[in-house]
Amino acid sequence: MTNPKKLKRIIFGFFALSFMILTSCELEPSEKIDPIAPELLYTERNESQTIQDFSKLGELLIRTNSRLKNGSESARMKGLGANSGPNYLEIVERVLQVVNPSPCGPTDYTEWLEEENSDWSSVSRNFAELTLMYVLPTYNALLFENNTRDQYFGKDGEFTQSVNKTFKDLKRFWDIPSNDIVLTAMHGNILLEREKLIRTYTDFFGLSPESAENLADAISFLLETFPEYRNGDHPNFTLNALALEGLNFMGEDLPNKIILGDGFLEGFAALGFNDIAPKAILAHEFAHQIQFKLNIVDSPTTDLAEASRRVELMADAYAAYYLSHARGASMQWKRVQQFLEVFFLLGDCEFGDPGHHGTPLQRMAAAKWGNQLAEKARKQGHIMSSKKFADLFEAQLPIIVSP
Ligand SMILES: [Zn+2]
Repeated sequence: MTNPKKLKRIIFGFFALSFMILTSCELEPSEKIDPIAPELLYTERNESQTIQDFSKLGELLIRTNSRLKNGSESARMKGLGANSGPNYLEIVERVLQVVNPSPCGPTDYTEWLEEENSDWSSVSRNFAELTLMYVLPTYNALLFENNTRDQYFGKDGEFTQSVNKTFKDLKRFWDIPSNDIVLTAMHGNILLEREKLIRTYTDFFGLSPESAENLADAISFLLETFPEYRNGDHPNFTLNALALEGLNFMGEDLPNKIILGDGFLEGFAALGFNDIAPKAILAHEFAHQIQFKLNIVDSPTTDLAEASRRVELMADAYAAYYLSHARGASMQWKRVQQFLEVFFLLGDCEFGDPGHHGTPLQRMAAAKWGNQLAEKARKQGHIMSSKKFADLFEAQLPIIVSP
């Protein structure tokens, strides 16, 4: 029987998380990753030479990857293993059609992503996966970005103002102590920063410094070789938003944290949701911080999918309440609903998955309920306490999930 307590302290990503017991072997300290031969890194390449280089590099990375994919033992013990990490890759993979057909049909968002991926080949995809490029920005933000100051949001800072304003507003709106919550961005351009890559490979994936350096060099080579990576600015690398409850990792205290990925926001902006996406996504992640503070993440159910669904639907309701409340973001419900329709369709379609967020219909029902509470409060201008809100939500939950 799985302990529902496991839900606590994990990262709440927008996309489904999974809680599989990890069985992969640990990288032995004696094992190391050899340097990529200099001729692989810097060479006047003709075509056949390039193909040869890539197959050698590929072999090396495959050898490495199977051993380090799940993170170091310390990472896994904290529930930070790669398997509890960003399964948003499923969305990317779905778009790239490398997974079996899923119940999620194409949406405007996935069509946008497909367009963004039109210049990716199976080779560029494989190298991105093998070097863990897809997840390095996430784990870098998770472990090392521990300060709200000096953050910018969006690859050119295009969301900074709106995100900062909303964060300040959410802290005022909700009655939980919130000064300790760190809000940080997730940028793909950290792939250009050798020291950050090395740190992530050593601390999170448990590599020796030498091996980490060699892999960081491989990434630099790949970024030079494949323009489609856009020097890390491609949305594939940052397509998520996360909330983390503070924890001690390898002797260091990680704060309560919200992480917003550039790529995730960029997609909604491309679809014309610039006015609402940063607010709505942040409101949802802030709701997870409320749940951490009120200690209401755990529930009696032993079914992880059901437990996760409860937590996510509650976050959707909190977000909708804030977005439509006259003293909150005070947005028109029609506009909120337009956004949520796209947002929820993008979610996970694996309804039995332990990281399940609820079906799009259930999520919309939860949001509508939150909106109606806000409408009722409109007249007297009252903001409900976060605890009262949670209690009312618990009572409503069976109705929200009923078919
Ligand atoms: Zn969530």
